[in-house]
Amino acid sequence: KDVTPETPADTPEPRSDVRISSPDRVIFPESGQTKGELADYYRTIAPLMLPFAAGRPISLVRCPQGRARHCFFQKHDSGSFGPHVSHVPIREKDGGTEDYLYITDADGILACVQMGTIEFHGWGAKAEDVEQPDRMIFDLDPDEGLGFDEVKRAARDIRRRLSDLGLVSFAMLSGGKGVHVVVPLTPGHDWETHKDFSKRFAEALSLAEPDRFVATMSKAKRKGRIFIDWLRNQRGSTAVLPYSARARAGAPVAIPISWEELDKMKDAHPFSISDAKTLMDRARDKALQGWGFVTQTLPDL
Ligand code: ATP
Ligand code: MN
Ligand code: MN
Repeated sequence: KDVTPETPADTPEPRSDVRISSPDRVIFPESGQTKGELADYYRTIAPLMLPFAAGRPISLVRCPQGRARHCFFQKHDSGSFGPHVSHVPIREKDGGTEDYLYITDADGILACVQMGTIEFHGWGAKAEDVEQPDRMIFDLDPDEGLGFDEVKRAARDIRRRLSDLGLVSFAMLSGGKGVHVVVPLTPGHDWETHKDFSKRFAEALSLAEPDRFVATMSKAKRKGRIFIDWLRNQRGSTAVLPYSARARAGAPVAIPISWEELDKMKDAHPFSISDAKTLMDRARDKALQGWGFVTQTLPDL
């Protein structure tokens, strides 16, 4: 399998000419980080985030007055983000067309932060061909009160089952409660095939181990179990992008993690936006080289 050899951790911090207004505004009241600090975080980690974020339609969680005030999930825009944020028209289910956002560089990320963005979520396809998905995600959502050890075990089991099908997968800590198991795919199949595969994979898992897994969203059925959220794999769905900050208490971030490292983790939010330097150092570790990059196609299921 063809693994991309280097991460961009060694490239110099890009300069940005996006002005951040109200940099002293506290965005994370529990831990005290400001809008300026959030911008600093993104400016620093942009080289790590861009390989996953650039050129992909995105949705944003914007909290202009901070995470404790009104936040909203934004999918469309017609130009209010300025010249660093691009638009791609995408056909909607109802037959109409909407402009979705995408960014290509650090300025794009910062232009979104300037607009009050905390979280970046991405489509499972690139803007250049939104009808051909290029990654599958199994978003593990544990029931309230289920220990993180159970989530880790689930992630490892999914990895093994994917591997049995010939697919390489990667783990990401969501920065919230769960783990995302990420399967990069070479574009070449449609959304219907993509969705069907992930649905059948999740259903097979819940059939094999009904005490541990559910494949339906119903909260009642989740009791003591992990919901294998395959619904991230439908056309138009998004998942939080690697290195995105989360609009949650403590300013946690979503991070790629090696399978070995996952074993040692106590929860899904070990790092915050105050750990940018640590995350940059960490990205140079051998274990993280090539994370999220592999050439493979979806087998028949
Ligand atoms: P956790 O590990 O805590 O579950 P998560 O990012 O996986 O964190 P989920 O609640 O499982 O959070 O959300 C899954 C995805 O649903 C998000 O990553 C996001 O892309 C999408 N999403 C979240 N909020 C909205 C919304 N208001 N509208 C549409 N999609 C949303
Ligand atoms: Mn989740
Ligand atoms: Mn989910």
